[in-house]
Amino acid sequence: MTTIIDKDFINQITLMQEKELLPKGLLSFIEEIHITQLKAIETLPTIAYPQKDIQTLDKILQGVPLLALDKFPYDLEHATTLFLQLLAIMKKQDDVNMQTAAENILSAYEEKKIILKDIFDAFLRNDENFLQDMDNNTPEAPRTIHFLALCALYPALQATAKKAFETLALPEDHVFIHGTCPVCGSLPYINELRHTSAEGARIAHCGICRTDYRIQRLICIFCNNDDPETLQNFTHDSLPDYRVQACDKCNFYIKIMDFKASGKTSVPPLADLESLVLDHALADKKYKRATWSVWGF
Ligand SMILES: [Zn+2]
Ligand SMILES: [Zn+2]
Repeated sequence: MTTIIDKDFINQITLMQEKELLPKGLLSFIEEIHITQLKAIETLPTIAYPQKDIQTLDKILQGVPLLALDKFPYDLEHATTLFLQLLAIMKKQDDVNMQTAAENILSAYEEKKIILKDIFDAFLRNDENFLQDMDNNTPEAPRTIHFLALCALYPALQATAKKAFETLALPEDHVFIHGTCPVCGSLPYINELRHTSAEGARIAHCGICRTDYRIQRLICIFCNNDDPETLQNFTHDSLPDYRVQACDKCNFYIKIMDFKASGKTSVPPLADLESLVLDHALADKKYKRATWSVWGF
């Protein structure tokens, strides 16, 4: 059973609010979304586990995801309830663009112009054309449908992923040779150096099913490039706990957090926000970020 209060998350976001690293409105919005999602996890019905779609361990070790994202089960009623709760949170924000987008989506839902099952299914089969068409209806708040779909499916996705990963019964220090999530096949949104051993373990965090998995330390996680001459590191004076690894072969980059010196607790979704200055710094260079945040924007 998950506990409703996620102390690390709350402590971390409170610190970020005090430091005014990001607009207060955005941080309190994210905090409310997070708490609403945790409460939703408490009411998540047990979902049948799709045994027939599970890959064999052999395949998974070769880089095939354990369960393709479009085979992840979800409870439509549960996801719909959460979707509407998220819309209600959006509607009461001070940001007029967010309010307008939420009102438009709610009217479209009530008038049956949008079908939530179609949106959830499109999200799971990664149907960007469908989702982008939907998002074009709320140009004042880009990616709102992506945000709502991912956040409403989060309880089901993380529950299935947790169960699926446990069934693999791999040793805790197993190092996956590919950078993609071994459970759902998505790319990680952030990496972390954990100092559980002398040389440190590199952990990748999946932003879709939220699996954490250990990967090889010195490679580009996007193209497996291991040539140090073409792997660049960037840091920012204001963020001693973070660096960026960027690859000259595929031009993608990933942020890597390392809290050994500061002793901070790792809360990856917030670390991603806290280190946005690195994304801004990289925007001037040729490198690209491969994924969105865990909120889909
Ligand atoms: Zn995943
Ligand atoms: Zn690369």
